[in-house]
Amino acid sequence: MPERDRDLILLIEDDPAVLSSVRRRLAFEGYGVETASNGLAGCEQFEALQPDLVILDVGLPGMDGLQVAEWIRERSQVPLLMLTARDRVEDRVAGLQSGADDYLIKPFAIEELLARMRALLRRASWAPSQDPEAVLRFEDLVLNQAAMTVTRNGQPIALTPREYQLLEHFMRHPRQVLSREALFEAVWGFDHMGESNIVDVNVKKIREKTEAGGTSRLIQTVRGFGYALREHP
Ligand code: CA
Repeated sequence: MPERDRDLILLIEDDPAVLSSVRRRLAFEGYGVETASNGLAGCEQFEALQPDLVILDVGLPGMDGLQVAEWIRERSQVPLLMLTARDRVEDRVAGLQSGADDYLIKPFAIEELLARMRALLRRASWAPSQDPEAVLRFEDLVLNQAAMTVTRNGQPIALTPREYQLLEHFMRHPRQVLSREALFEAVWGFDHMGESNIVDVNVKKIREKTEAGGTSRLIQTVRGFGYALREHP
């Protein structure tokens, strides 16, 4: 990715009033801003620009925001902030499962948008670790933070970005009981998971991948509390 002296934001939004007001404010705040008003144009802009963050409306003509999010996630771990007009649990969950990092419900205050953006950009600049020695180990599980790779008993394990972040959080807190809410906040970055079972879904996937070949379970369910990374009892 080219080095830039300011962050470039790609705004994909079909409402001209929202588009122009957000664009004007982001430019005022010193960000580079490019825009697209439908999903397909957004994907093309994404490929051409390699932005530092994407703001994506869910309700777009043609290819909708969820499809755009999935398309981007197949190619990139860029921070993705979703805008939704509907305060419905299923839309938020669909947005998060399609790969969004955070969401805002319309109408939103621009200060709130800026705060969420800054949090996502700050988090993106932390990862991956620059320390080549940064390796976390638990039993035969090894997580290399510089290479962002995971192996068990020497065998590579392919994880999605969210599964990787979740496993990394467990490995930073071995043998601690972690609640679903705490895991959600640590990985998805905001503090209200609503009715979502997204933590359970991702734990299940990590278990399937790390227990392939009949190896022992490392992420244990702690009934009534959450999960803990610890040796099989
Ligand atoms: Ca829209």
